Amino acid sequence: MASGGGIQIPSRLPLLLAHEGVLLPGSTIRFSVDSPRNMQLVSQRLLKGTSLKSTIIGVIPNTRDPEQDTEDLPTLHTIGTAGIAVQVVGSNWPKPHYTLLITGLCRFRVSGLLKERPFVLAEVTPLLLLTGRISEGNVFFFFSFLARLCVSLQLLGMLDMSVPAVAKFRRLLDSLPREMLPDVVASMIRTSNKEKLQVLDAVSLEERFRRTLPMLTRQIEGLKLLKKSRKMTPGSEKRVCYGPGPKGGPFPGRQFSLDRDEDSDDDGDDTASLEKKVHGANMPEAALKVSLKELKRLKKMPQSMPEYALTRNYLDLMVELPWSRSTKDCLDIRAARVLLDNDHYAMEKLKRRVLEYLAVRQLKTSLKGPILCFVGPPGVGKTSVGRSIAKTLGREFHRIALGGVCDQSDIRGHRRTYVGSMPGRIINGLKTVGVNNPVFLLDEVDKLGKSLQGDPAAALLEVLDPEQNHSFTDHYLNVAFDLSQVLFIATANTTATIPPALLDRMEVLQVPGYTQEEKVEIAHRHLIPNQLEQHGLTPQQLHIPQESTQDIICRYTREAGVRSLERKIGAICRAVAVKVAEGHRLPETDASTLETSPQQEDEEQLDVLMFPDKAAPPEMPIVIDQMALKDILGPPLFELEVSERLTLPGVALGLAWTPLGGEIMFVEASRMEGEGQLTLTGQLGDVMKESAHLAISWLRANAKTYQLTNMVGAPDPLEGTDIHLHFPAGAVTKDGPSAGVTIVTCLASLFSGRLVRSDIAMTGEITLRGLVLPVGGIKDKVLAAHRAGVKRVILPKRNEKDLDELPANVRAQLDFVTAGNLDEVLNASFDGGFPGAQARPHVSSKL
Ligand code: ADP
Repeated sequence: MASGGGIQIPSRLPLLLAHEGVLLPGSTIRFSVDSPRNMQLVSQRLLKGTSLKSTIIGVIPNTRDPEQDTEDLPTLHTIGTAGIAVQVVGSNWPKPHYTLLITGLCRFRVSGLLKERPFVLAEVTPLLLLTGRISEGNVFFFFSFLARLCVSLQLLGMLDMSVPAVAKFRRLLDSLPREMLPDVVASMIRTSNKEKLQVLDAVSLEERFRRTLPMLTRQIEGLKLLKKSRKMTPGSEKRVCYGPGPKGGPFPGRQFSLDRDEDSDDDGDDTASLEKKVHGANMPEAALKVSLKELKRLKKMPQSMPEYALTRNYLDLMVELPWSRSTKDCLDIRAARVLLDNDHYAMEKLKRRVLEYLAVRQLKTSLKGPILCFVGPPGVGKTSVGRSIAKTLGREFHRIALGGVCDQSDIRGHRRTYVGSMPGRIINGLKTVGVNNPVFLLDEVDKLGKSLQGDPAAALLEVLDPEQNHSFTDHYLNVAFDLSQVLFIATANTTATIPPALLDRMEVLQVPGYTQEEKVEIAHRHLIPNQLEQHGLTPQQLHIPQESTQDIICRYTREAGVRSLERKIGAICRAVAVKVAEGHRLPETDASTLETSPQQEDEEQLDVLMFPDKAAPPEMPIVIDQMALKDILGPPLFELEVSERLTLPGVALGLAWTPLGGEIMFVEASRMEGEGQLTLTGQLGDVMKESAHLAISWLRANAKTYQLTNMVGAPDPLEGTDIHLHFPAGAVTKDGPSAGVTIVTCLASLFSGRLVRSDIAMTGEITLRGLVLPVGGIKDKVLAAHRAGVKRVILPKRNEKDLDELPANVRAQLDFVTAGNLDEVLNASFDGGFPGAQARPHVSSKL
């Protein structure tokens, strides 16, 4: 029996195999115990014993995995620490285990094992004696150790005494006998288990001092650093410097936190690399100044502050923005022409203008010039031309959808004071493309909204104005960004709803719809090959003959562009892909290299029985004829209905313009007994209603000339008669003056009881004196008439010049009647002319 600081240590000790932590004399450690031998030790010795002696156990460091400790006893460390179990707590969750609080008393050496089960019992020799007195040689160590300890105590004095570890350290150091110092110091400062083990193994006092000294030095350096950093960053009191650095020294210039060493480590790295990035981002001076200021603030902020993330995000954006990164323009007009022609069929006028624009760009090498705005129905290739322009210039392309944007912060960003603030679409776009000279396609500028949050169009003005946009300031960024290198192109369906100030900054290029023939060409040159590729098919697998394409265009789509057509071709490709995949066999294999086993043959036969379709793979290529079309796309959606509907008096065919392209529009009229009232249905706008009133007034005024009568033959068509005018497709709002001539023709037909020619459509504004005034959208309207199978079109005389824009084949297939007054309109609309109408119409047949 030996004495350990007043307590007798038995010569036979049960041994606790400590898998985590190293107990040193003079320190207290909590051990969690769940391996079988240790559990037995606790339950049979600690919990059953009644004397003080039974609470003394030996703690032996054990580096082996606790799971492996069930069978063989590992080779034990020869030196351990006898300790007294001051607390035992048991728990069944998450698995049965005990938590022991053990205070180390003294070292011992294992001199022999007595038994291994149920727990280890060993014969031990306590190592209490100091190996000799403090000799001359180790006086130096002893005193330098003490001196450093004093310095550290001074530093500790500056630390917060409310931190329990600090207070405890102070008290202990004050009361300890000097020879206990190394053990106590080694257990209190942050050292690795390996280092603690070295201290435990150092039986000689001198050796113990030697081993502890570097650890203490490291600790002191750390404390000094902490002191420095506390001066620099007020509010980081929680940070205490502990822990070995690489090669055992303290980390130079780093801070460590008790609770999250790893995080703060990252943080230090992070801000340093961020700072590097800020300097490397090539920002203009103003931006650099702001960024450095923000970086300084960031460094002082604890990460837990909400503002930390905001500032961090801001800085991340600042370094990511392409302040001076750009692509080199590689413009060659001849190559551009070839590329535009290759990518797009028809649209000659647009392509010509785009080439002019690019040529000026090449000669002047400056971007100041009008912003191009492509205006036309959907699916006519506006976006696609924008993309080609980017390709010819070798620039990045980015599309910004403006449809429905009604808040100017969408364009210009939110101020950073708002929660969830972010940059606007322009800055975001620049971040996405990563260069400062992309092609930005501002899609659907005609659909910008307006709201209480400001007018986005006003923000766009600044973006598009070459005089201002070199210093565009996003609210979030709050520093100017030079947008002058960005090439902006806008698209819209109509100019009517583009704010005038914005329209003024742009050069409008009309992109009209396509004729049927053009659509067939586009389909065969571009859409079908593209769709085949997208669906993994080849021309050897699917063939769509021209007649079928024509059928899709006339009977399954009614549009100015080719978007629905593209979708329908996509649908055909999908259907064919299924067929091809079903009939798809493994590539034919050479019979000599692969023989089918009887089992494989059985499987194949079973396959044939279960999937008879599979038995005969379809013949390639699969040809899409009328039957196949019906199978895949269903019954036709549109039929040529013009001639059918014009079989009664009181119906005429007008031509209308919509943002989606031209359309044919029937006007129907009927009369009944009444008091001369006019009813209008079909969601008409004010202008259209006025046209209807004008038409009636003009007919009433000229009823005698044209021999028009009411239902009972009286000369005023409205006497005792009510009239109802209806414009079908009642759900669609219609407005504009161009239906004037159609309403007159329709009513003339009603009052005279004569049929309007079934192959004629018309457009034109009327006046009270019977003149026909010019209207807009002639090209789209004529194309719509052509699509609908109309043969003759009545136009205002002053619109004759617009016919030049029509494709030659359309002009060749239609008769155009240009009318200056309503007499000419009526004469052209009825077979054999209209009774009383004087002027003969000018028919420019097949221009
Ligand atoms: P928009 O922007 O006018 O609504 P898109 O540019 O998106 O139309 O065009 C729709 C599709 O039609 C695209 O796949 C495009 O390639 C194709 N397309 C349109 N016009 C042509 C054309 N003239 N030649 C070849 N493909 C075209």
